[in-house]
Amino acid sequence: MAGSVKTEGIVLRSLRYGEADRILHLYTPDRGRVGAIAKGVRRSRSRFGGRLEPFFRVDLVLYEGRGDLLTVTSVETVAAHPRLREDAGALDGAARACEAVARVFDDGDPHAGVYHLLANQLALLDREPARATRANALAFRLKLLLAAGFAPQLAGCASCGEGEHLAGFSGAAGGVVCAACEASAFPLDQEAHDFLVAALGQPLAESPDASPRALQQAERAILETLEHHAHLRLRPVGRG
Ligand SMILES: [Zn+2]
Repeated sequence: MAGSVKTEGIVLRSLRYGEADRILHLYTPDRGRVGAIAKGVRRSRSRFGGRLEPFFRVDLVLYEGRGDLLTVTSVETVAAHPRLREDAGALDGAARACEAVARVFDDGDPHAGVYHLLANQLALLDREPARATRANALAFRLKLLLAAGFAPQLAGCASCGEGEHLAGFSGAAGGVVCAACEASAFPLDQEAHDFLVAALGQPLAESPDASPRALQQAERAILETLEHHAHLRLRPVGRG
């Protein structure tokens, strides 16, 4: 299916290739993750300028030939996120968000919601770099799980449906579990449970904070959910 494709995209990764080219990993609303090559982009007089760096949100025209990679033929900036790049925490948060999207979704697995979630996260980190907290990174991952169809069950025991005495979290069961079902679970405090519910339910810009202990448990819940359902392990979000 050769021809030109117009799409928005976010640059997840940008790798040097050959003398002057770059291989790009892009996330797009309609096609999901796609690989593309930008030829001559590292030459100082490239018509692409610096617009194909990670975290750029761009309007693209891509040429689709017979190869695996599409070829970038034009780029316009939608959002460059310059302030994000000046703050180490925000830069780290943006890198982790892009890495999570790149790892959770395969090529040709489009989720328009994921595109907008990532665009919102980058815009938030650019607008308010101080938002790059551990709680924000976890809220982003939870919303990513929701978009991927792996959101943990939080309303009742994922094994037996019991609505009370929820004491643990089990990635294998797919969510919180009650005291009777907690064999394969780890303890989940009420505060961590409340954080998971609030982070899933509220916009990113209003995502809640919690104590380090609760965030630690929430992170473990997210990691185990990903490991169990998507069979992948993300880097811990790490920062406080
Ligand atoms: Zn149960």
